[in-house]
Amino acid sequence: MKNVVVCLMPGAKFDRATGGLFGAARRLDAPLTAVIPGPADDELVATIAQQADTVICADASELTAYQPELTLAVLQTVCEQLQPDIVLLSGDTYSQELTPRLAGRLGGSSIGDAQGLAIEGDHLRVTRSVYGGKAMAVVELRRSPAVVWVRARSFDPEPARETPGTVETRAVELSEAARRHVNATEIIERHVETTGDVRLEDATVIVSGGRGLGGPEPFEELKQLASTMGAQMAASRAACDAGWVPPHWQVGQTGKKVAPELYLAIALSGASQHLMGIADAKVITAINTDEDAPIFRHCQFGIVEDYRNIVGPLREKLASLLS
Ligand SMILES: Cc1cc2nc3c(=O)[nH]c(=O)nc-3n(C[C@H](O)[C@H](O)[C@H](O)COP(=O)(O)OP(=O)(O)OC[C@H]3O[C@@H](n4cnc5c(N)ncnc54)[C@H](O)[C@@H]3O)c2cc1C
Repeated sequence: MKNVVVCLMPGAKFDRATGGLFGAARRLDAPLTAVIPGPADDELVATIAQQADTVICADASELTAYQPELTLAVLQTVCEQLQPDIVLLSGDTYSQELTPRLAGRLGGSSIGDAQGLAIEGDHLRVTRSVYGGKAMAVVELRRSPAVVWVRARSFDPEPARETPGTVETRAVELSEAARRHVNATEIIERHVETTGDVRLEDATVIVSGGRGLGGPEPFEELKQLASTMGAQMAASRAACDAGWVPPHWQVGQTGKKVAPELYLAIALSGASQHLMGIADAKVITAINTDEDAPIFRHCQFGIVEDYRNIVGPLREKLASLLS
């Protein structure tokens, strides 16, 4: 029987993505331990106890907020004690950063962006999309532990267990080697990016802009449209790299993977790397002047037109319908 550990990040919440992470872990049908590094509020611990057999609140005195080296050292220490076969993390930026490093420290194997998990014999098999979503690859992780981050919303949450798991607070003493890693890094400053109420990965409607908008100003008009629709804002990498919008708006291979009911793509071409981030969108709609833009081969509805002739009238029409 495989022993599965789910690692959360400091400050984690029990949102749709965390629910999906535990859904993925519980479907492996193996003893499940959740590790919460740093301080965790009682409500979160109680909710996690409804998902896992055991919850370990890993308490290292310095770990008050996410710090990569320290979080990694704490997770490594607890995993070395638990000796899991499988370690699962979420798809957030912190987890993506730590997954391969944790695998390296534990002497295991690692992969990211899992959309399916299955135990075959002694090994974990991970299904993930490749070639911009054109094909699915099944990868067997042969070196234990298999350390994997899962794509947000790819797995449905499971209902709360009838009997909550046990909760243990464990003081974590770092090894000399771990302490050296931690001391090698110092956080000088923290900048918290303001994000909307809803994480992009959890948004049900997204308005996304690309390089064709020509600068940061048109994004203000898109924001008004998004506000009318109750949508979150996103962008292509070209728009983010140009500094027109914040980097955390980026959707795609090297950005967020989103799964909204509606994705409205405005003046973005639909490069394969962008499409990788919207493969799970239910309905894609595009506005683009170029009828040959790749996005038109992937959308259910498209308008070949200058966005300036569409966005304003669309917002006014929606506002009048909703008022
Ligand atoms: C390793 C790697 C990883 C990458 N990861 C990502 C990623 O995560 N996300 C991502 O987005 N990209 C990523 N890219 C970049 C990707 O290849 C494209 O360069 C990028 O997505 C293009 O952005 P865009 O569609 O906004 O710009 P463009 O491709 O320049 O498209 C602009 C579009 O706007 C249209 N347009 C112009 N004017 C108007 C107008 N007035 N009205 C309506 N339409 C108009 C044009 O017809 C065109 O189709 C990655 C690339 C690499 C190599």
